[in-house]
Amino acid sequence: ILETADLTKTFGELIANDGISLGIERGEVHGIIGPNGSGKSTFFNTVTGFYESDGGQVFFEGTDITEMGPDEIARNGLGRTFQIASPFTDLTVRENLLSVYTDGLRSGLRISSEKRARAQEILEQLEIEHIADHEASDISGGQQQLLELGRILMLDPSCIMLDEPTAGVNPALQERILDHLRELNEEGRTFVIIEHDMSVISGLTDRVSVLNQGQIVTQGDFETVTSDDRVREAYLGEE
Ligand code: ATP
Ligand code: MG
Repeated sequence: ILETADLTKTFGELIANDGISLGIERGEVHGIIGPNGSGKSTFFNTVTGFYESDGGQVFFEGTDITEMGPDEIARNGLGRTFQIASPFTDLTVRENLLSVYTDGLRSGLRISSEKRARAQEILEQLEIEHIADHEASDISGGQQQLLELGRILMLDPSCIMLDEPTAGVNPALQERILDHLRELNEEGRTFVIIEHDMSVISGLTDRVSVLNQGQIVTQGDFETVTSDDRVREAYLGEE
């Protein structure tokens, strides 16, 4: 469903993504792990059009999306969340869902009844209906992550890239987020997920790719990857 070929991103002298070739199968949950600064978030930003790449290509559902901007990529069905959730803090949870990719709320444009119905469906599915009328600034970090996921779901993506969706979230809410992700995966959605928490990775993913210094150093199922010496080396380099 998603494929990168030799994807490269540099910042001046720094090669943040050094020729990443990765294929994601439809329906899988693919984990991306690696030490801080190994290029995980940069990879997401380059794939989803937030950064312009310095080489290589990205294909989504067979279409070359390398030159597309973030909005066009999202409309094509490839969604992503950010490491730091940033909802519109002066809007309510429901308004945040309704405002996806429009200035409708502030400019007085009409919001379609389909869009309202979709927002309601998402509020119920993610079990955040009880906070629908709370301002986004007043909800917890974990609830903000759910809202972030909800905003992506408004566009009904077939593949979602999640950048540390459970970082700083309390264990009970973390478990709920994971349940929602499993449910969305069973509905047929594909996930690529960056995580530092290995219990999340082992409980959720079909395959894992390990990044170190901008390159994929190994790939496979969780057990195989975590027993690989190159992975231990990658993490040792961090200390
Ligand atoms: P973490 O686990 O801490 O989130 P990461 O694997 O997501 O780390 P990236 O954020 O992709 O790492 O950063 C990779 C490298 O690229 C780092 O050295 C970082 O400082 C650098 N970098 C990332 N974004 C930019 C940017 N916009 N401008 C300059 N350098 C950047
Ligand atoms: Mg990151």
